[in-house]
Amino acid sequence: MNYTIMTDICVIGAGHAGCEAALACARLGLDTTIFTMNVDSIAMMPCNPHIGGSSKGHLVREIDALGGEMGKNIDKTFIQSKMLNVSKGPAVHSLRTQADKAEYSKRMRQTLEHQEHLHIRQVEVAKLLTEGEPEDNAGPVTSEEPKNDCRKVVGVQTCTGTIYECKAAIICTGTYLKARCLVGETITETGPSGMQRSTFLSDSLADEGIALRRFKTGTPARMDGRTLDYSEMTIQNGDKTVIPFSYSTDPKDGQIDQVPCYLTYTNEETHEIIRQNIGRSPIYAGIIEGTGPRYCPSIEDKVVKFPDKIRHQVFIEPEGRGTNEVYIDGMSSSMPDDVQQQMYRTVPGLEHCDIVKNAYAIEYDCINANILKQTLETKNIEGLFCAGQFNGSSGYEEAAAQGLIAGINAAMEIKGEEPLIIERSEAYIGVLIDDLVSKNNLEPYRMMTSRAEYRLLLRQDNADLRLRKYGYRVGLISKQEYDHVCYKEKAITDEIMRLKRTKIGGSEAVQSFLEKNGSATLKTACSLAELMCRPELGYEMIAEIDKDRPELSKEITDQVEIEIRYEGYIERQKKQVEQFEKLEHKRIPDSIDYDKVTGIRIEARQKFKKFRPTSIGQAGRLSGVTPADVQVLLVYMEKFHVKQ
Ligand SMILES: Cc1cc2nc3c(=O)[nH]c(=O)nc-3n(C[C@H](O)[C@H](O)[C@H](O)COP(=O)(O)OP(=O)(O)OC[C@H]3O[C@@H](n4cnc5c(N)ncnc54)[C@H](O)[C@@H]3O)c2cc1C
Repeated sequence: MNYTIMTDICVIGAGHAGCEAALACARLGLDTTIFTMNVDSIAMMPCNPHIGGSSKGHLVREIDALGGEMGKNIDKTFIQSKMLNVSKGPAVHSLRTQADKAEYSKRMRQTLEHQEHLHIRQVEVAKLLTEGEPEDNAGPVTSEEPKNDCRKVVGVQTCTGTIYECKAAIICTGTYLKARCLVGETITETGPSGMQRSTFLSDSLADEGIALRRFKTGTPARMDGRTLDYSEMTIQNGDKTVIPFSYSTDPKDGQIDQVPCYLTYTNEETHEIIRQNIGRSPIYAGIIEGTGPRYCPSIEDKVVKFPDKIRHQVFIEPEGRGTNEVYIDGMSSSMPDDVQQQMYRTVPGLEHCDIVKNAYAIEYDCINANILKQTLETKNIEGLFCAGQFNGSSGYEEAAAQGLIAGINAAMEIKGEEPLIIERSEAYIGVLIDDLVSKNNLEPYRMMTSRAEYRLLLRQDNADLRLRKYGYRVGLISKQEYDHVCYKEKAITDEIMRLKRTKIGGSEAVQSFLEKNGSATLKTACSLAELMCRPELGYEMIAEIDKDRPELSKEITDQVEIEIRYEGYIERQKKQVEQFEKLEHKRIPDSIDYDKVTGIRIEARQKFKKFRPTSIGQAGRLSGVTPADVQVLLVYMEKFHVKQ
């Protein structure tokens, strides 16, 4: 006799996606149950020990601006922090922190355990329960021809038989579904880091018509740091002044004693060992079925694909304060153990290393996110949401961002409130989700700044100005936090206007200030804004000749400086966004029959029927669709008054 428990939302998985999803649902007042294979693996970091970095730092800031947890959690558990790309423009400035992995997981678990309306369950979810008939001869739902089923989620069943009845379920199973780990010829049917894998749910999802595919990723060995010789490496220290990820973290609390990383390199000897044994690599021996991420290549891939490169960077990163374990970044591999023992010992500083954990590759089941709407709900099963690595992405930050959005939208759906869809012109989260659900990603999707067309507007320093309003609208951001960002917005605009309006002439004081700072003296009057744009000057520097300057915080003056210095670029990008939004807001009704749209090419018709884009903008982004196809569709919609 199966026991039944009532809850509102079931979150399957307590990784980076599941934690954000469950916290969002519970914080929005929904009774939420989160499942994990092992509570000691909550928010586990099975791969690199860092949070943030190029474009990923933007995601963490955006998660925080919306009311998510990752930023707060890492601000309390980091061991090194560095702002990357400071020599370049603000669009690519990105915060990257080294995490104390054990503390990160422990603190996230405590946050979940203290969250009202949230229940944690260590048990494998084996079955998804739905009601409603799939369309006759439905067969598996692929992204080819989504069936407009009218089924809906009613619960999940654990491998112990208990049923959790719910109104929505969020699948965040990461790298666990039918996972297998490969170290050369040694294959183990486990999840990451030796965790128990998830065995049954894949079959249940297939029975529900959800097509699964195999992806893979890999990780490097972990070593006993006491056995490394750091004198052969270059120390990599964090920033003197730490800038926190979260807007709710007081910067004063972030000034801690940091732990260094180290830089060393592979060499020809390393590469030769790999070349000699390439046939024993499960990747090159064809044992691995899953598709791996191009942007996180294994050392085998690097040696094979870049044969002329005489060395590859290797970063030695501590896994935490309470362990000697170090992570060998840049040498992920699935080579046999004996090859790993040889190849790592050729790296300067690793000659006498003790390998604590072998490098390995992991294969797992995941979906093609084309079966999802931009709310991350499946197109064919109402109340079923998906997030994280299960959606075909890769990375803690990408997973957490999707988990937050899926959690918010599951809650909004149950509460009958408007879903949250963030556009690619508003945030990296918008780019991430739109790319996942609109593009045919054939490998794990990793975020990069180059993916964001409007990256000068989507800076990591203005995430709150872009997204707090949405966090407040859905109920995750407090009135006080919202009022603060409204005040900040107004203060920035007022100060920019003041600097533009305030004209100064060539008075003696001004001229000597300019000479003192190696700047050309004034021939005619100009505004303070014009003056501070001179490369050798800046907002702080002109304070000396700006007598009526109001007392403003650094978070405001930083924005003023960027907005004035990059005004031209920013205005141009805003124009592009206006153009983008015109097309994005041209909604396409679900019911449109593309067979009736004459004049579009076969390939485009197939793509439109496959993806069922929700807007003209999204239709235009589908690969293989031409502007001419979009034009024909537009004319058809005008002519036959096809409206949402
Ligand atoms: C070996 C390895 C190498 C990686 N390399 C990289 C890399 O190089 N770069 C990069 O960006 N990212 C890498 N990652 C990916 C990164 O770890 C993931 O992106 C991130 O952890 C995904 O978060 P998630 O929440 O989607 O899933 P996960 O963190 O995997 O969490 C999944 C959760 O689901 C639970 N679960 C699964 N199935 C069930 C079930 N049936 N019932 C109950 N609970 C279930 C698990 O217990 C776990 O709590 C790697 C991951 C691994 C394992």
